[in-house]
Amino acid sequence: MRSRTPDRLCAEAVDLARVAAEEAAAPGTVGEHVDAVADGDRVVTHLFECKEPGYRGWRWAVTVARASRAKHVTLDESVLLPGPDALLAPEWVPWSERLRPGDMGPGDLLPTEAEDLRLEPGYTGAQAAQEDAGASGGQAAVAPGVAELADVEDADVEPGSPAAQAAAARAAAQVAEPTARGSIAAVADELGMGRHRVLSRYGLHAAADRWEEAYGPKTAMAQAAPANCVSCGFLVPLAGSLRQAFGICANEFGPADGHVVSLGYGCGGHSEAAVMPRPPRPAPPVIDENVVDPFALRPDRTGGSVEETGPSEEFGHS
Ligand code: SF4
Repeated sequence: MRSRTPDRLCAEAVDLARVAAEEAAAPGTVGEHVDAVADGDRVVTHLFECKEPGYRGWRWAVTVARASRAKHVTLDESVLLPGPDALLAPEWVPWSERLRPGDMGPGDLLPTEAEDLRLEPGYTGAQAAQEDAGASGGQAAVAPGVAELADVEDADVEPGSPAAQAAAARAAAQVAEPTARGSIAAVADELGMGRHRVLSRYGLHAAADRWEEAYGPKTAMAQAAPANCVSCGFLVPLAGSLRQAFGICANEFGPADGHVVSLGYGCGGHSEAAVMPRPPRPAPPVIDENVVDPFALRPDRTGGSVEETGPSEEFGHS
């Protein structure tokens, strides 16, 4: 069984270890001898206090060793190691996890991982090209009608009237263009699908959530707006499924100019903001103070006409 008691000769080689530590450290930064730890048979590590201000709690660890039946102790290695109460730097975090929106500057490159959940394989056309070739025996599939035009191209043009030559040239030009247009790859390109990767459902939802939070109906700006973006003339509609919920604001004076906004968002720059509020309608008057109503101070007891009088007359008869 191996002994954990430090080898006596190695444990006594403190001076040798100190010299090694002082060689490795900056002058005057090797402090008191702290401990001697047995790393194995005839292998001992001497620990010295590190007095560097930036390395509080760290220790110079110098390992010495001795060969079996030898009396001469030799130096193994010297290294600065953190002690139990050492001041340590925070755990290192990979850049991809540290990155925040807005961190990228001009010229920066941001590689996207192959397994990025926000993306999924798109349509590159390579597979369709193989399918096309297989389906048509080596020829690319073409749109209906293009085959007929191709037949025209293959037909011999009889030299003769200029009209016949012009018709042949027209037919040849039409063949060249629709063939490219008719291929599946060209259609996919036109639809914006000719990309190796496209936004996945997860990426789509994540983007929608972000936009909704920044320019959505729950923001203070939207709550105080006279109307929503959906009815605003400055809203540029999106294509695809996001069109149902988002558009782009094109009001240079609005708070969201150039940003994707929720249709439920809104601001004071709404195109109809100036005409939307209805003019205030004053309530009908309750008391008309402009007309004097006759008031009988004394009721007519003789059945004659009612005597009307004012306050001064009332005082004169009393
Ligand atoms: S101006 Fe205001 S209401 Fe109109 S689209 Fe832009 S953010 Fe929406």
